Amino acid sequence: MSEFDLIVIGGGSGGVRAARAAARLHARVALVEGGALGGTCVNAGCIPKKLLVYASRFRREFEDAVAYGWRGSPAQFDWPALIHNKDAAIRRLNDLYERLLTGAGVSLVRGWARLLDAHTVAVGAQSLRARHILIATGGRPSVPDFPGRELVITSDDAFHLDQLPRRALVVGGGYIAVEFASIFHGLGVETTLIHRGDSILRGFDDEARKHLGGALRARGVTLLLDSRVSAVERGAAGLTAILAGGRQMHADLILCATGRLPNTAGLGLERAGVELTGSGAVQVDDGFRSSAPSIFALGDVIDRMRLTPVAIAEAEVFARNLFGEGRGRMDYHAVPTAVFATPELASVGLSEERARERHRRIKVFRSRFKPTRELLTDSEQRVLVKLVVDASNDRVLGAHMVGDGAAEVIQGLAIAIKCGATKSQIDAIIGIHPTVAEEFLTLRDTAGEA
Ligand code: FAD
Ligand code: NDP
Repeated sequence: MSEFDLIVIGGGSGGVRAARAAARLHARVALVEGGALGGTCVNAGCIPKKLLVYASRFRREFEDAVAYGWRGSPAQFDWPALIHNKDAAIRRLNDLYERLLTGAGVSLVRGWARLLDAHTVAVGAQSLRARHILIATGGRPSVPDFPGRELVITSDDAFHLDQLPRRALVVGGGYIAVEFASIFHGLGVETTLIHRGDSILRGFDDEARKHLGGALRARGVTLLLDSRVSAVERGAAGLTAILAGGRQMHADLILCATGRLPNTAGLGLERAGVELTGSGAVQVDDGFRSSAPSIFALGDVIDRMRLTPVAIAEAEVFARNLFGEGRGRMDYHAVPTAVFATPELASVGLSEERARERHRRIKVFRSRFKPTRELLTDSEQRVLVKLVVDASNDRVLGAHMVGDGAAEVIQGLAIAIKCGATKSQIDAIIGIHPTVAEEFLTLRDTAGEA
């Protein structure tokens, strides 16, 4: 039986980084992966999603090019070519991940792992033992239990469709639903998003959510809010979603993006004494240790902040604490995030609503403006930029943006906010003109104070 200091179960964002970081600190590490290396982010998440987002944005570029003097026959879109090229790029990333692991001295074991006890992992007929085990098994899509649920697809399937549908229904109002509604729409699919809430993207700044909802509608995505799917049927003319209340919606494809569940079933966690939370995530302390002292967990499987850079940062903290000098804690303060819709919504820090709950007096600065790019087009689209400030000490608590390039802009502002920047310090920065980002530096009038 092979003996290690650490066995990592799962070769996604968190697992790969934890294995490499531990090996760098001279631990003997094995990593077990049952699927493709790179996990969700590389194979069915961030990377292929962003490639589809890029593809979906060319249509508008072609349309608007006319206003900028370009003439020519309209370009044709070829979905199979996009998927073929995307798959080739992903295979190169899978190979790169393998080289990174083996180059770091990590033993790579292919197969699905299950725990036999708190120190032993079985992979097929093989048994591995280690002082420590890390669960980094990520999550999987969850589809509500309604009649006909087997007729819908999830984001995992959306990356491998043979052809694009003519009409799509996207169920859900979170990151994945909003991103895929934009992707489908941009690629010419008649798209309806059906969400049970009264506004998309619960948890983000209310004004930003509404602004994005309006922008999606203006571009032609149909938003059906306060609506639930109670059943799906297949008929001669395609699929029909029956909404609570009886309304029927027809489509060629229904994508359910109604959340994800931690991958903890079938791992043998109970045999090793690992306790789960109510949502089925591995329960861990600040050091990512589970109720079984030799077993740790991080990334999507602990269901804290399901983002790739967070899983990677957790992995670094974990490895340094276990095998290095580190005694650090993961800092979840001011983690920036973006929804890659078109236009994008990006945020860092507190929403106006959350800031009002936590701080006695806040100031809100905002601007809605027509970006220079749209001066020659007929778009009525406005960009929203917004800062939320603690009135007692001038500290910026949150920054929010809806508009093209929002993710890139907010990534820069996140540095300032994490470093504790005040509004006056941001005002003192000289802008780059003409850009959208410079608008954050010229927000002089208080738009709301409480
Ligand atoms: P994962 O990356 O899911 O890796 C888990 C790995 O464990 C998988 O490879 C799986 O095969 C393996 N595994 C599971 N069980 C076993 C077992 N028993 N034995 C062996 N191997 C096992 N985040 C962002 O920051 N930006 C984005 O733009 C973004 N877009 C996303 C788009 C979509 C459609 C989705 C679904 C997610 C997106 N995310 C994004 C979230 C991001 O992908 C996850 O937060 C991240 O991948 C979590 O990493 P992880 O290591 O915890 O899990
Ligand atoms: P989210 O948790 O973001 O959204 C789930 C959506 O489904 C919510 O709108 C929720 O509504 C709705 N929902 C949940 N259950 C039901 C139900 N039974 N019936 C109808 N609607 C339901 O999950 P996603 O699946 O979109 O994404 C999973 C995670 O992956 C995200 O939270 C994010 O952390 C990560 N991710 C990050 C991305 C990025 O960084 N750009 C992109 C994609 C994913 P309600 O709001 O009412 O609860």
